[in-house]
This record gives sequence, C-alpha cells and structure tokens, in this order.
Amino acid sequence: MLPEVPFPWQNSQWQRLAQQYEERLLPHAFLVCGDQGLGKSLFVRGFSRYMLCQNPLKQFACGICRNCRQAGEDFNHPDVLHIAPLEGKRDINVEQIRSLINFIVHTSHAGIAKIAIIDAAHHLNISSANALLKTLEEPTLNSYLFLVTEFPGSLPATTRSRCQRVLFSSPAREVAQQWLNSKSLPESVVDIDRLLEAAECRPLYAIQLAEQGAVEQRDQFLNKLYQLSTGSQSPQSLVSLALKIGESAVIGHLLLTSSILIKSLSSNQRPGESANEIDNLYSLLIARERPTRTLLVELMQFYDAVIVARKQMLSGTNPNGQLIMESLIWRWYQFI
Ligand SMILES: [Zn+2]
Repeated sequence: MLPEVPFPWQNSQWQRLAQQYEERLLPHAFLVCGDQGLGKSLFVRGFSRYMLCQNPLKQFACGICRNCRQAGEDFNHPDVLHIAPLEGKRDINVEQIRSLINFIVHTSHAGIAKIAIIDAAHHLNISSANALLKTLEEPTLNSYLFLVTEFPGSLPATTRSRCQRVLFSSPAREVAQQWLNSKSLPESVVDIDRLLEAAECRPLYAIQLAEQGAVEQRDQFLNKLYQLSTGSQSPQSLVSLALKIGESAVIGHLLLTSSILIKSLSSNQRPGESANEIDNLYSLLIARERPTRTLLVELMQFYDAVIVARKQMLSGTNPNGQLIMESLIWRWYQFI
C-alpha cells in the first residue's frame, strides 16, 4: 500500500512538507489530524521514507536506494520508531515516551534523520504528554516527531501549540469515486455511491466497510431506527442490534444520520435517494409538523450527545457500552 502514498487527496499536504524539507525549513514536530479512514498514518510512513531516501526524485522516494529498500513496505527502518497504545491498553504510557526520547537522542544509522511516529496520539495520558514536552521544546538536531490523531482537541494545549498542524479532510466525492473505481472491491459492493455515503466520503474507511460487509449492516440498523421511530420496534430491540453491530459503528451511523438530517432540514432539501433510510426519517419528521427550528435545536442536541458518547467510548475510563447505547437510543426515541 505504501508506494501509493500520497493518496490523491493528500497531494497539497505532501507538496508543502516536501518543499519545507527540501529547503531545510521543516519543523521538527507535527500534529497530523483528520478523520479516521483518510490515510494519515500511511502518509506519515510514506513521508518518512521520502525523508530518509538517499536519492529522492522530485519530492518522492526513489524506492531503490539502500534506505528505501531497508524501509520496505512495512516501514521497518532503524531510524524510524513507531509508538501506539500497547495491545489491550488504552493509554500510551510514560515508559513508551521515555524509550522514544532515548531513541531520538541517539545518532541515526543512516546519518540523515531520526523519526518518531505516535499513532493514536490522543491516547497520551497526562504524564506521558508531560514527558514528551521537553522533547517538543528542545528538539535534537535532525529529529522529527509526528503525532497522528483523529481527536487533536484531546491533547493538551501545550503539546498542540508546539506542533505544526497537518490537516486531512474527506476528498471531493468525484476524487474518492475515481480512486475507489481503480480498486478491486469485494463483489458484494454494487453501488460505490452508497458505499461512499456510508463512509462519509473517507476512501480508506470505505474499503474497510466494503471488506466487512458493513454497508448492509448499516442499512439494517437504519431500517430498525426508522421502525423505532414509527413505533413498530421497541427501543430494547434496537439496543440489542446496536450491541451486536458494535458501539463505535453505531455511533458512526447515528452521527451520519443526524448530521444529514440537520443539513437537509436547514437547507429545506430532502436527503434524496442516495440516502434512502435517512430520507424516510426525514419524511417522518416533516409529517410531525413541528416547527423546523425546534427540530433543528433538538437534533443538534442529539448530535452533541452522540459526540459526547464517542468521547466516552474513547476515554480511558472503561466506559459501559451497553449503558451508552441505551441512553442514546432512548434519547432518539424521545426526540422522534
Ligand atoms: Zn531512496
């Protein structure tokens, strides 16, 4: 997958960083952020390879020099360190950061640069973020740090302010479509439009959904959500389905549904055929004949509650998934 980096929606970020690197103006710490499924981590891996390449060609790694070969597809180069929460743990602990600092201060093997990548950086806890601070304030020469996260707001302001931000957002639909068309998707995917809609236009997330057959699952959930809204299903049966599908997927479906409804209501435009189930919910809301303003306020409150639930799920406090699903589904039930 690595040779493909940068993906078509990452070109401007790549060019900016590569130019800074060529001009020796590259800052030493980055906060790489954007939603999951946009290839942030792969971008950083690919860019590290470019940084270490001995004969870069027009801002790209040559792929054949000693460093490029050593890096390989998995990017296991001795001058690059990867850190993420250890298996079964939520937090990136302070020992991991100490080993990162130790790695950074030692001379590089290839004599070019030392690169540390922290994936899921929002999982730095207070002590590990503090331990990292000194490295951010007093960098070692030719050392580079990439903090990759979908929730930059969860990091302490002192950490954020010392990093240059590299932001990724969902590409235009045509760009994502064109890219997906060039991939070999599972045969079950008959409608790329629908797949992209389920993935909120995040191309790598779309591939993941396609591979998991998750589009059907989403349709099933939204179908039941509609039935709940018309009173032909009980909240409890939807909670059971939600627990079967998985909390984080359900949170994604609820965020998408409420955001599409908010957009449609405020622009007075139906969600349309590409979002069939959500279109049905829209009709239902209109038929209730409540003032649009009230609907919008309540939907936004619901959306905020889902965001809070997502944060809870990601927090290090062992959240109770069943309780969170029950509370969200009851809240929807009361709203509708
Ligand atoms: Zn090379």
